[in-house]
Amino acid sequence: MKIIPIGGVGEIGMNMVLINSGGSSIVVDCGVLFPPFQHLGVDTVVADYKGFCDTFKNARTLFITHGHEDHVGGIPYLIQHCKPKIYATAYASEVIKARCRSVLGNDFKIDIKVVKFGDKIKTGNFEVEYIQVDHSIPDSSALFIRTDEGNIFYVADFRLSGRNKQPFLNRIKEIRNESEVDILLSDSTNAHEESEALSEEDVLASLDSYFKKAKKKIIVTLFSSNISRINQIIKLSKKHGKSLFISGANLKIHLNIARSLGYMEPDGGCIRPDSEISKTAEENIVLICTGSQAERYSSIVRLSQGTHSLKINKDDLVIFSSSQIPGNEKVIMETINRLSEKGAEIVYSDDYGVHCSGHANRKELREVLKNIRPKYFIPMHGEQIHLKYHVGLAIEEGIPEKNCFVLKNGDEFNYDGDKAKVKNHYKFNRYYVDSVTGELIDDVVIKEREIAGEMGLIVLTLVIDSKGQLISKPQLLPYGLSKSAKVQEVLSGIEDKLFAFCKKRPKTEHLAKDIQELKSQVKREFRKAYDNKPEVILNFVEME
Ligand SMILES: [Zn+2]
Ligand SMILES: [Zn+2]
Repeated sequence: MKIIPIGGVGEIGMNMVLINSGGSSIVVDCGVLFPPFQHLGVDTVVADYKGFCDTFKNARTLFITHGHEDHVGGIPYLIQHCKPKIYATAYASEVIKARCRSVLGNDFKIDIKVVKFGDKIKTGNFEVEYIQVDHSIPDSSALFIRTDEGNIFYVADFRLSGRNKQPFLNRIKEIRNESEVDILLSDSTNAHEESEALSEEDVLASLDSYFKKAKKKIIVTLFSSNISRINQIIKLSKKHGKSLFISGANLKIHLNIARSLGYMEPDGGCIRPDSEISKTAEENIVLICTGSQAERYSSIVRLSQGTHSLKINKDDLVIFSSSQIPGNEKVIMETINRLSEKGAEIVYSDDYGVHCSGHANRKELREVLKNIRPKYFIPMHGEQIHLKYHVGLAIEEGIPEKNCFVLKNGDEFNYDGDKAKVKNHYKFNRYYVDSVTGELIDDVVIKEREIAGEMGLIVLTLVIDSKGQLISKPQLLPYGLSKSAKVQEVLSGIEDKLFAFCKKRPKTEHLAKDIQELKSQVKREFRKAYDNKPEVILNFVEME
């Protein structure tokens, strides 16, 4: 048996794992990653699905654990290269279809089979059982995967609280009474988290106290898929006689899914159409909005910038009912500061009890390890440090260190029914989704954007005749460089050198032949004056 993580180890996001046994393969999840940088015009990062489909020709059955973007967001891009059969629970299926519509329009074909908890799906050498777990999106599952070559427990994102805790632990016990678990793969996102987790009831009580205290509008930003939190806000809006408004396309998509599947708290008419917000008294307004991670065009960011139709005024209360995804802290703080400047009161830290994580903390991870007692352990879903912490827990729970494998994306973990080792490594590129065009761009373009952002740009304009010969002196125009006299002088010196070079070259050849040389000359000469290599863009202007 082989297990190959395509993404999701050593990082938070892009969860995708290939499992091969007896000549057949399945894939668990197909997620995106939120880019580790800002300001480069990229929203999400996806795997090289073409490379994946070409390399693993028999991997065409996909099992989805839940509907979060880091588990399903890659599907619209994957189905452009192969046509997998997809198994997913009801909520995840609807999210997948909505994601495909937003990326591909209405013209796409997708083969999704909706599974129910307890279903055992047979495919090739596999039998995959869906077991319900609690997490921050409805219909989340752990998978128990049986094969002739061994059994795998895949505990993807989960937390061990809420109504599914006991049934989940009971099912683990039943499984353990019947069979061994050879390999456990498990969520490590909060493997460093020692503190006691808040329950949803604690969060509800805390939010209630803020609803009581609020003087003016209440604005709550949260993850769009956090339906249980949205339901709490609906409950509180009803209790306090408020009118509830929803802002943000993603939130509306999730609310529609929740409503159609019967997961939404009956709102009793408290949710009002957008058009009524201007006629509603400030102290009666509750607004749920997108942007808990301060995404660029999200509602909370627009509210903070004053570009939203609703205005933030003194004594409004803004609650961030969400955790901060590592890497987003700075933009979230910028948003918070802008809101505060407008006079709003802000509740954003975990200390205020307005959010509880959807991921298991150390105590909960320990309980899963203790109950499953696997022979081998592979921590998943987490940065390097989270994976290491999780291994530490596994060792404390009696799994020998040599049986714990911290993998890298692309590693091929092999298990022969007794011994395990990493044999091969696959290297796949990654692609970035351009936020303006939606097209995929590669590392080279990202590098160019980085250079242009960090070091500036120089545009080299060459005016040529129809035969490609220079007819006037080359011109250099700087962008994102200082406008000092020294820079102007350096550029004009380079212009003279380029002119001399062009005059010397053979008159029979088109100047386009020397593009690389001309660009290099500009970079080289500029570097002599400044220790900096700006990006050079060449612009030919043809004149008769
Ligand atoms: Zn996840
Ligand atoms: Zn999740």
